[in-house]
Amino acid sequence: MEALEKVIRACEKCERLVAHRQAVARKPPRRWAGWVYWARGVPGFGDPEARVWVVGLAPAAHGANRTGRMFTGDSSGDWLYRALYETGFANQPTSTHREDGLALKEVFISAVVRCAPPDNRPLAAELAACFPYLEQEWEALRPRLRVVVPLGHVAYQQVQRLLRQKGPPFGHGVEWQPWPGLTVLLSYHPSQQNTRTGRLKWEAWKGIFVRVQALLSQAEGPS
Ligand code: SF4
Repeated sequence: MEALEKVIRACEKCERLVAHRQAVARKPPRRWAGWVYWARGVPGFGDPEARVWVVGLAPAAHGANRTGRMFTGDSSGDWLYRALYETGFANQPTSTHREDGLALKEVFISAVVRCAPPDNRPLAAELAACFPYLEQEWEALRPRLRVVVPLGHVAYQQVQRLLRQKGPPFGHGVEWQPWPGLTVLLSYHPSQQNTRTGRLKWEAWKGIFVRVQALLSQAEGPS
């Protein structure tokens, strides 16, 4: 994982995304004026011994592209880490910067592209370029992995590609067992587009991680 982190930080495979991640760093909104942006590829974050893998879409231009940590410093992250905290997977409910003391237990967080795309829409070629990093994380995590949580359609497509299987149609809370011992639990992405419009409500969102707890307990079996 450490070697992979270094590769992702230094990666410049996608010309469009490299230009975009740097362009937004040069012109931050007023609230982030003076912040030294990360403006590089953002590695996965969390417990390397995780049994739960959360797969997001991409760093937000002024979120992870600014802070250098997955889902850190934006409203999607506010939703994600609060839910993880309330279900016992994080030691604190907020994630504001890389040295804020946040630690995850049992959860690792990735994205299907590691650089912020314009309008949060990666191109097919960019998804393909970044896919080997997802594969490498999968290989590192898979011996212990019990639950995969793709956030949104695009992440789900990449997870199906990774597992080399076609799952059920996307829907919030839909579960798929590609093989015994592994559950893919689908969720809407906690983007503002979903949370502000009410498409994704807090209880439905937190319910994903409550269900993850139950799936892990089932995997452990009766004590
Ligand atoms: S999106 Fe992935 S493959 Fe493309 S430049 Fe960033 S880290 Fe590299």
